[in-house]
Amino acid sequence: MSTVRVRFAPSPTGYLHVGGLRTALYNYLFAKKHGGAFLLRIEDTDRTRYVEGAVENLIRTLGWAGLQFDEGPGVGGDRGPYVQSERLSLYREYAEQLIRDGHAYYAFDTAEELEAMKAEQERQKLTPKYDRRALMLTPSEIEAKRASGTPSVVRLLVPDATTVVIEDVVRGRVEFESAMIDDQVLLKSDGYPTYHLANVVDDHLMGITHVIRGEEWLSSTPKHVLLYRAFGWDLPVFAHLPLLLNPDRSKLSKRQGDVAVEDYMRKGYLPEALLNFIAFLGWNPGDEREIFSLEELVREFTLERVGKSGAVFNSEKLDSVNRQYIKTAPTPRLVEEIGARLTAHGVPVPSEQQLAGVVALMKERVTTLEEFATGCVYLFTDPAGYDEEAARKNWKPETGGWLKDLVPLLRGMEGFTATALEAVVKERAGSLGVGAGKLIHPLRLAVSGTSKGPGLFEMMELLGRDVCVRRIERALAALG
Ligand code: GLU
Repeated sequence: MSTVRVRFAPSPTGYLHVGGLRTALYNYLFAKKHGGAFLLRIEDTDRTRYVEGAVENLIRTLGWAGLQFDEGPGVGGDRGPYVQSERLSLYREYAEQLIRDGHAYYAFDTAEELEAMKAEQERQKLTPKYDRRALMLTPSEIEAKRASGTPSVVRLLVPDATTVVIEDVVRGRVEFESAMIDDQVLLKSDGYPTYHLANVVDDHLMGITHVIRGEEWLSSTPKHVLLYRAFGWDLPVFAHLPLLLNPDRSKLSKRQGDVAVEDYMRKGYLPEALLNFIAFLGWNPGDEREIFSLEELVREFTLERVGKSGAVFNSEKLDSVNRQYIKTAPTPRLVEEIGARLTAHGVPVPSEQQLAGVVALMKERVTTLEEFATGCVYLFTDPAGYDEEAARKNWKPETGGWLKDLVPLLRGMEGFTATALEAVVKERAGSLGVGAGKLIHPLRLAVSGTSKGPGLFEMMELLGRDVCVRRIERALAALG
């Protein structure tokens, strides 16, 4: 087999879809596994969908995920440019070659004419398809129209009565009857190629050996195969990845959850966790193992283990994978990430040592990095208020007096450790003749403002004596 060359070829529509990340990941894994090259190609020939800044955003997001491409915009490579809008003259030349060789033709129909044609076909219950009226034009009529500047497109001349066979690595043998294939527009009247022409020309010129992409492109593949044949080029290997589904097995949609990788970035999923989770959307190692680093995925990944059936995007699974990654992430890394998030939220960033304490206390309890920054603000700043329901339940008329008496005991403690704190509080509850909960619950409310969180005594040790005493006094003032 010649050196593997694969590409991720997104259209810059504004954000990277999780399905796009899966395509990029599988291409990356396949390239690395075979010592090949992973290319990024920007397919931006649909100018109506152009979004400012989308390419930069894509590149940033791939970088965040750790999927470094070997050739592409900003990186270079000897098969560039890697942005289709910078290759327009090439597509025109290839379209003209097809016309010369009798595989494509000019058509001059207006939008209204095409509409009317379609309406008529629908009325007759025929599959809407270009009726090839342009083939009736004589060479001199075509010349005259072109000379007078009549807008034209170039259409593929789909051969009659052939079966296009695709041997897909994932889907097996797939057949399409050419009668069902429209004479696809290859070059639009604005001079831009359609996806089909640009995609095939570039895959050929860029030496792509394997086309690994989502199943939604499978129906385009027969057109591509016809183009390869028309040009006399070798076919790449095709592998169409299964659809991503919502838990109700409908096609993955925004309506049922986040689909932009950027959303997961913002929420504080670790890139390795997201990649690990995404790797399993269509592939599995064939055994029970679930946690894989990118290097391990490279080692284990094969297209043969990619399944045909749709893969459900289960966000609970993602949460569980992320929790596992946070639990084992090195503390300095978490400290840095959380520090940045606190700053973004305008929360004063404590010392590195203190942040490390928070990490140690919380890393087994949080699902995302963002939870550190928003869900446990009380570990960084005094509570701005007190959970009303918890106060109603746990702050009784006698509570204030009990906590007030606790303050000098806390002040007098020798070491302000979790164990010592627990002993002091339990002893106090014992001498009051009440259960420890009667002190623990209000104490937690006073110190954190909420009724949830890490172990009270560990939290108090982390906050330190001064902070705890200050907070208890503030709570006494506020709650009585
Ligand atoms: N530009 C297409 C996309 O947005 C590429 C499909 C393909 O890989 O051929 O996904």
